[in-house]
Amino acid sequence: MYTFDSLTVPEPQESLDHYIKRLRKSLKMSQQQVSSAAGIHLQSLGKLERGKTTRLNEKTKKGLAIAFNIPEEYLDAVVSGLPVEGVQKKQYCPQCWKGGNNPDPSWTLPRAKYCLLCGTQLRCSCIRCGEPIASFKHKFCPHCGIPYAQLSQNKS
Ligand SMILES: [Zn+2]
Ligand SMILES: [Zn+2]
Repeated sequence: MYTFDSLTVPEPQESLDHYIKRLRKSLKMSQQQVSSAAGIHLQSLGKLERGKTTRLNEKTKKGLAIAFNIPEEYLDAVVSGLPVEGVQKKQYCPQCWKGGNNPDPSWTLPRAKYCLLCGTQLRCSCIRCGEPIASFKHKFCPHCGIPYAQLSQNKS
């Protein structure tokens, strides 16, 4: 399970070397600690942090995601230069999400189907009108005006 922390979300246009270094510093980890947690060579990590490597193979990506406790999709976003929203699925848990704030990162993974916190099936559209969620910044459904927070209460 991911602990949500907005610091772990890549900044727009952030480079891979900058992102990895920033995460490592924010976790107060040494290169040694990160490379062993990620199961990659210290040298490979060094190359990444110096911007010598700009692509990640599956193993490195998985390893770094585990070491930094972030979804692999964040790394995809940085490598591809797309905003995180571009690789995120706009899904939410009708039980846990109250609207207007960031979703739990585990909901937005392309493969996620159920909430990791409560097991409820994730939804990507308004329960009342069926329109897709346009933005997690909204507190209300822009189409039918229902507060997203209310959806969870109405449901059970
Ligand atoms: Zn939930
Ligand atoms: Zn609606």
